[in-house]
Amino acid sequence: MKRIYLDNAATTALKPEVLEKMLPYFTEYYGNPSSLHSFAREAKKGIDKAREQTASAVGALPEEIIFTGSGSESDNMVLRGIAALKKQNGNHIIISSVEHHAVLHTCEELEKAGFKVTYLPVDEYGRVFADDVASAITDKTILVSIMFANNEVGTIMPISEIGSICRARNVLFHTDAVQAVGQVPIDVKKMNIDMLTMSAHKFHGPKGAGALYIKKGIRLPAMITGGAQERKKRAGTENVPGIVGLGEAIEISVKNMETNAKRMRSLRDKLIMGIRERIPDVKLNGHPSERLPGNVNFSIRYVEGESILLMLDLNGIAASSGSACTSGSLDPSHVLLAMGLDHETAHGSLRMTLGDETTDEEIDYVLEVLPGIINRLRSMSPLYVGGRI
Ligand SMILES: *Cc1c(COP(=O)(O)O)cnc(C)c1O
Repeated sequence: MKRIYLDNAATTALKPEVLEKMLPYFTEYYGNPSSLHSFAREAKKGIDKAREQTASAVGALPEEIIFTGSGSESDNMVLRGIAALKKQNGNHIIISSVEHHAVLHTCEELEKAGFKVTYLPVDEYGRVFADDVASAITDKTILVSIMFANNEVGTIMPISEIGSICRARNVLFHTDAVQAVGQVPIDVKKMNIDMLTMSAHKFHGPKGAGALYIKKGIRLPAMITGGAQERKKRAGTENVPGIVGLGEAIEISVKNMETNAKRMRSLRDKLIMGIRERIPDVKLNGHPSERLPGNVNFSIRYVEGESILLMLDLNGIAASSGSACTSGSLDPSHVLLAMGLDHETAHGSLRMTLGDETTDEEIDYVLEVLPGIINRLRSMSPLYVGGRI
């Protein structure tokens, strides 16, 4: 059976050329980068190169990049770190209501510790209004954290506008750019971004390797204390192969971004149009144009997202319902609810996220199989009577 992977927002395949670059750091250059011998120097050189590759991918300086264990860790480090660093100045944090759980749940923890969090609303397409950021800022605001692009519906946020607002009001601005890196152009200086979260496994790098851009001058405290690694901001012997893989993957992704994005956009639009033509009672979730090149998210009325996933999997197609973290629980997606969908519709969502390797034939196959699956599920649904409730 054909196997088709359309869950690239959850994780991506490691590129063979990235693995190639990582392998010697497992077998030959296994020295501890902090030691003083040739084994260590090779490892250290690998990290230095990755730091340059990462910095140049987002328009930062190498000394503004630190490596972490994941995107979630980078998000935690910013929120908890700025809260600790700035608590004398204020206790107010602004985020959007559609953030990843790494930001949302961390803010819930901070609320328990006495911080006030504003959860900005989004429009029907999942987009934050930049003006809302401006009006939410008070003299107690210590941080604005708005994701670059949403992982469920692919909506790209007005990051440059938010950046200018925060800079003008002298408030720190962090963006979780895990979904955006390698998909849309990022320039931390031009966009007035103070901190930016990245994760290697979302751009065809290895899992367990994250990075964080921290603008020079921001003295973010360490969450993990111990050795002096990562300029004392993140103790622990470095995941050298992971870091090398992150650097290589980000360089390749950004280098090929334009070509890949163009290809993916056209496959994405073919899939969107094909679904609309073949399946009645569907609603595209997310923004029509301000959208990640690989994201397709539909609400398919009268069927459960989970049932669609099971049937697709039986046909070799890997997709997702909402985010990987909410599938497996019966909660409707907080993102779709924030966009104004009712509970019923928020349960029946299907996310298909394309990657560098997705082919035209694969999209054809999905369009061939999916309508039949939906028909069968709907024919079993008591809610669906010939397209009417
Ligand atoms: C995947 C993801 C994360 C978490 O990254 P990990 O490296 O898996 O911890 C954070 N934010 C967004 C938007 C994501 O898509």
